[in-house]
Amino acid sequence: MKVLVTGAAGYIGSHTALELLKAGHEVVGFDNLSNSSEHSIVRVRELAGRPLAFHVLDLLDAAALERMLREGFDAVLHFAGLKAVGESVEKPELYRRNNVDGSANLLAAMTKAGCRRLVFSSSCTVYGSVRTNPVDEAHPRSAVNPYGATKLAIEDMCSGLASSQAGWHIALLRYFNPVGAHESGRIGEDPKGVPNSLMPYVMQTAAGRHPKVRVWGRDYPTPDGTGVRDYIHVVDLALAHIAALDQIDSFAGAEPLNLGAGRGYSVLEVIAAAAKAAGRDIPWEAFPRRPGDAAAIWADPARAKAKLGWSATRTLDRMCADHWRWQAANPDGYPRH
Ligand code: NAD
Repeated sequence: MKVLVTGAAGYIGSHTALELLKAGHEVVGFDNLSNSSEHSIVRVRELAGRPLAFHVLDLLDAAALERMLREGFDAVLHFAGLKAVGESVEKPELYRRNNVDGSANLLAAMTKAGCRRLVFSSSCTVYGSVRTNPVDEAHPRSAVNPYGATKLAIEDMCSGLASSQAGWHIALLRYFNPVGAHESGRIGEDPKGVPNSLMPYVMQTAAGRHPKVRVWGRDYPTPDGTGVRDYIHVVDLALAHIAALDQIDSFAGAEPLNLGAGRGYSVLEVIAAAAKAAGRDIPWEAFPRRPGDAAAIWADPARAKAKLGWSATRTLDRMCADHWRWQAANPDGYPRH
């Protein structure tokens, strides 16, 4: 297929672009580089040994998007968006405009161009305060922060479009916690500033960039008292997108699918596995629970297995080994020029 990848220079977009090229697809990517570097694109081209067209383009530039879509694509993989929960609380309007209005522009440009296959990066954040585990796609949705509200709004926009216009095939992929990096250590997550999520923070602590990991809550009703989450290797996640493209015509309208490993690991298990991968101790200290954090969340990935024939295979040790290889080889992320 000829595939357009939005947010192609980002963490998940770059790993998926590589797997798309390896699977033989023709790939055109774009990104406004607000949270990424074009070096990732250069490295994807090197790893794939195949051409990858790339444009600097903003989702908010509706006219440029229309021109791009007119090139003619079989499908769009839509990763572009802002994703920092804390920042979204400070700047909800920025998140609404960038993520929701930007996605509306994309859907309008696709409609005009007659491209009706879409794979959208949603998130387990749409489940809000999780009531029961494992979480399946029928769990009630709610937004617990402005970032989550953008994911709900975009899912609804996709569902509305698919129910009002015939011919759409849309996969709403709800990611759990993507971690790890390509095994080459050439591409990986490159957070700007202090990372919001656990794994990059733990890895940067192993590299000596932070004195210790702050563990929020040691008195949860979990085996070791720390929070439990479902982590998924970014390459497993990328491969799920290839499977989703293969099956996209079987998606009637807009359908949600969980992408998770289907099991949880505690914060202390993650720190121990990361320490093993890095070959050094990782200091940590317990602090009180943060308001709003759930004790445990993990996915029921049965639907993705049934629908895509896909399941996550890479273990926590593999996630940590690959993440550490990237961190050690690129201590400051991609070059900043
Ligand atoms: P990322 O920040 O590395 O990638 C997103 C890319 O989108 C960045 O390269 C950024 O520059 C680009 N972008 C942002 N706004 C844009 C705009 N207006 N126009 C063009 N490009 C724009 O993040 P990621 O981890 O690769 O996430 C990809 C998608 O997956 C996002 O939609 C995110 O919300 C979703 N997601 C991520 C996670 C996670 O933990 N990483 C979990 C669930 C869902």
